[in-house]
Amino acid sequence: MHHDIALFSELCDVLFKSEIDEPVARPIPTDQLLKKIDLSLNTEGVIEDTLVQTLQTIIKSTPKTASKSFFNQLFGGRIGKATLGDLLAVMLNNSMYTYKVAGPQVGIEKEVIKNICNLANYPKHSDGTFAPGGSMSNMMALIMARDAKAPEVRTEGLTKKMTLYTSASSHYSISKNAALTGIGRDQVRLVNTNTKGEMLAQHLETLIQKDLEDGYQPFFVNATAGTTVLGAFDDIKTLSIICKKHKIWLHVDGAYCGGVIFSKTYKHLVDGLENTDSFSVNAHKMLGTPLSCSIIITQHKAQLHHSFSNDADYLYQTDGDDFNLGKTSLQCGRRNDALKIWTLWKSVGTNGLETIVNKQFEMAEIARNYIKNNSNYKLYSFDDAISICFNYKDITAKELCTALYENSELMVGFGSFKTDSFVRMVTINSLLEKEDVLNFFSRLEAFVAKNMLKIATS
Ligand SMILES: *Cc1c(COP(=O)(O)O)cnc(C)c1O
Repeated sequence: MHHDIALFSELCDVLFKSEIDEPVARPIPTDQLLKKIDLSLNTEGVIEDTLVQTLQTIIKSTPKTASKSFFNQLFGGRIGKATLGDLLAVMLNNSMYTYKVAGPQVGIEKEVIKNICNLANYPKHSDGTFAPGGSMSNMMALIMARDAKAPEVRTEGLTKKMTLYTSASSHYSISKNAALTGIGRDQVRLVNTNTKGEMLAQHLETLIQKDLEDGYQPFFVNATAGTTVLGAFDDIKTLSIICKKHKIWLHVDGAYCGGVIFSKTYKHLVDGLENTDSFSVNAHKMLGTPLSCSIIITQHKAQLHHSFSNDADYLYQTDGDDFNLGKTSLQCGRRNDALKIWTLWKSVGTNGLETIVNKQFEMAEIARNYIKNNSNYKLYSFDDAISICFNYKDITAKELCTALYENSELMVGFGSFKTDSFVRMVTINSLLEKEDVLNFFSRLEAFVAKNMLKIATS
């Protein structure tokens, strides 16, 4: 084992060097992948030299999400202490379902959840858990909402048509979860958004009224804190009034930007959070931990238990429900995702996490200002978003992003909102500095000047 840890350390050095030498790995066309790298599994094993060489090739060819050229997704970078925590979780290899098997790790998870509840201004009796990702956190919220409205569903299955509401700009997992939970995609009502991508409360009210008249059972509203494309924040306060009136569960999907609860400057973006029923946040997005680290909290601790606990004599043998986290979990065996965020949090404190979050907004501001001051660009983003959406010299966003990727220049994606398509650059890597952001634009411009002028002028 010690030998393999030393080997791991050597492979990390290969990765670090590669992140600098070739920050955007040369993409391998899918039809050539198995020819370029020996990924084959065979009856006999290989000698260690071969294994190490193959691993090195794999490392060099894998997209470098921690490099300074990665602006493609809603995560990026590598924060040392969070990675340390995750590596320890691998070494300890506990499963989070019981205190007997996870010991202090249970306390670590409970402490993280308690502090997230406090930051969200949730009352004392609140609780939560870790889910395998933001999509699954949203599913847990949906299940709790369904069971709260119609407890008989857990035994009889659905007997009525239940409707849920989410904005047209929300994450696709909401509709997918409707399909997975028996609600059905046809019972998902997409609420219109304003020009910024924020849910229109008036339209929500209209849709609910219509469904009530038609004999449906409205049960769930999903608000988004940081929509996936534009990074918009739904107006939680206003939505919560409508939900209270109709006794509908209000969930806030903060997978992307729920991390603003750590920032005194940006917390106002989720004003009204204390009036919601559940809230989820992906620490692997704004807080910069490795994937996955998704937390869901709810004010209805009993509902969390009702929806997710099962008796199992072979499992729950000691210590009571509060320390046997399997009682509130979607899974049975469950990876320890708490240690990475705890290690980071313990190390830098709540103030340090605030700095991490604020930095992303600072970098976004720099990117937006650059675009505003340069007439070759058109900006589609609004203030208070860390998604910077733009077009350059009227080049089709998809063509530009694909060319930048295929030529190992930059990793950046594109998105669309209503009728517009654009490049979406994300400043979520808190380790990036102003020069890295400006570098992004100068490299993009140089690349276009050299390779794409024909497309731009044709
Ligand atoms: C990323 C994201 C999700 C999904 O989270 P995963 O961890 O990728 O499953 C859900 N909602 C929003 C708004 C997101 O940005």
